[in-house]
Amino acid sequence: MGSFEICTLASGSKGNCTYIKSGDTSLIIDQGLTVRELGIRAATRGIDLSTVGAVLVTHEHTDHVKGVAQFSKEYGAKVYMPLTCFETLRSRGETITGYEYVDGFETGFDVGDIHVEPFRLPHDARYTVGYRLTDGKNDVAVATDLGFVSDNTLARLCGCKAVIVESNHDKLMLEKGRYPYPLKVRIASKNGHLSNADSAAIASQLVASGAERILLAHLSEDNNTPELAFEATKEELEKHGIKEGEDVVLDVAYQYRPSEIIRL
Ligand SMILES: [Zn+2]
Ligand SMILES: [Zn+2]
Repeated sequence: MGSFEICTLASGSKGNCTYIKSGDTSLIIDQGLTVRELGIRAATRGIDLSTVGAVLVTHEHTDHVKGVAQFSKEYGAKVYMPLTCFETLRSRGETITGYEYVDGFETGFDVGDIHVEPFRLPHDARYTVGYRLTDGKNDVAVATDLGFVSDNTLARLCGCKAVIVESNHDKLMLEKGRYPYPLKVRIASKNGHLSNADSAAIASQLVASGAERILLAHLSEDNNTPELAFEATKEELEKHGIKEGEDVVLDVAYQYRPSEIIRL
């Protein structure tokens, strides 16, 4: 039985990729970078991409899939994704060499030593999922690109030792910002992206259910700052008597550089 190592290699609307390892199994969730850029970033954290056996894809938006086909071809990794996502990529003319069809995708499957359970998220793609992974010792979950936290989503995130959750925008910055009105409406909708307040609102429940690490992800470059995202959740935790740095470690994932490696 291993223990998890987690690193976001990129996070945000210009590309997403999270590396997760336990024991002899390593995988990535989404691959929205060029393979060359991914390689450069992985190397800075001592991550050997040749050991990555699988890519788990959340949905078909470009920032999550741009480099999936190339990565699976070059590294021989298997690719798991909702069938609708596979169909969309195929209709764009992409060949996903390592695609693994999973019957009853949402009920879960194993990737080496890691058990994977996808769960549906409300977002404006054809079908979007988050992932909860367990290595038999700990659970970790990744939920980015969601418009709101449903009861089901919260249940899937609770009980995880590490949670990567979207903290996309500051509501005021989005409202006052330069985005055209329809885009503002889209982002703030129930099928858009989580605001800082939305993710802050669930943080205390995550900690109460066992989260020791929370990584705020998919921050908007236009409508957020790392400080605003961090402070929103930190302050909300304090209202519940939870101290950041003692009861839980809170971090922010970046667009242009990898996070530290989180070890559970
Ligand atoms: Zn995205
Ligand atoms: Zn998306």
